[in-house]
Parts: sequence; structure tokens; C-alpha cells
Amino acid sequence: MKKTIVFILIFVFMVSVFTGCSHTHEYKETVIKEPSCGEDGLKEFVCKKCGDGYSEAIPAKGDHEYDENTVKEATCSAEGEKILTCRKCGHTETEVIPVDKNAHVLGSHTYTKAVSVDLPEDEWYYDQYGYLIKTRTLMVAFDCESIIKIPTATEEGEGIKTCELCGETVAVILPPIQ
Ligand SMILES: [Zn+2]
Ligand SMILES: [Zn+2]
Ligand SMILES: [Zn+2]
Repeated sequence: MKKTIVFILIFVFMVSVFTGCSHTHEYKETVIKEPSCGEDGLKEFVCKKCGDGYSEAIPAKGDHEYDENTVKEATCSAEGEKILTCRKCGHTETEVIPVDKNAHVLGSHTYTKAVSVDLPEDEWYYDQYGYLIKTRTLMVAFDCESIIKIPTATEEGEGIKTCELCGETVAVILPPIQ
């Protein structure tokens, strides 16, 4: 009989613990860490009444999405550099642009040469000695150091330039003569 009373007392005590002190939790949300690209954030919920708490991940924003900005072009002799800026989170990264064997620095040159250019048929004429003249001679300034193939009025020619950085000679296109 005594045992039964003790059990009843314990039962009553337990019920009072669960009813009297229980409440609907009122959680306050706090962001502990904002999410960024590729990295989850974290928010914390704490009950204002009892201090009960749990935390929850805030999903990452996906991968970085970069805008590229070339700071320095690569050349035949030196690496270049570009800055990647994430348009979502502002994270920046510097990236090396590898040496480009074909990115020679050729500079500007003047190679002057007398060139005879075909005249259109309606501009042919006879000179004072009675010769039919079908060409005219022009002094042309080519942007190169020497010439492989002289351009005509209709066809491109080919010249040579030397790279100021590596000293390699490079063939360049010479536009048709105007
Ligand atoms: Zn609570
Ligand atoms: Zn990002
Ligand atoms: Zn070069």
C-alpha cells in the first residue's frame, strides 16, 4: 500500500513537471554566419523562454560566378595576369595567364620601297616615246622590316618583323596597295 502511494506521488510530480512548466517554445532566429559560394551558412534558434536551442545550415549560394578582368596580357616572354571577381559574393582571385608563344611584340616599322602597280585598262596611256604604259610606280611605306612578297593592288603581300621581346622573326600580312 505504501509503495502504491509513493508511485502515485511520483506520477503526480511527473505530470506537474510536464504540464506546469511545459510551454510552446518561442524561438528567436539569429544568423551566425552568412552563406557564401560553396560554403554553407549557419543560423541558430534559441527559445526565449527556456533557452532550448538548435542550429540549422543556410544552404550555400552555389559555386562562384566569376567576371574576368585582364590586368596584364601574356606575351611570348612573360606571363599575364587576370583578376576574377565573383559577382555573387565579391570574392576575388588572381590568376596567371600562361606565356603565349605567339603573342610577339612587333612594334611599328617603316620600310619604303618603289612598287609598280597595274593600272586599270581605261587608265592605260602612251608616253612621249609611244610606249603603252600599263603601270605606275609608287613609293610605298610598308609596316615591316623587310619584304618577302610585295602586295599588289588586289593581293596581300608578306613582310617580316622582329619581335622586340624574344628576337624571333615573324611573317606579317601586308595589305593590298591602295
Ligand atoms: Zn522553450
Ligand atoms: Zn562567390
Ligand atoms: Zn616574341
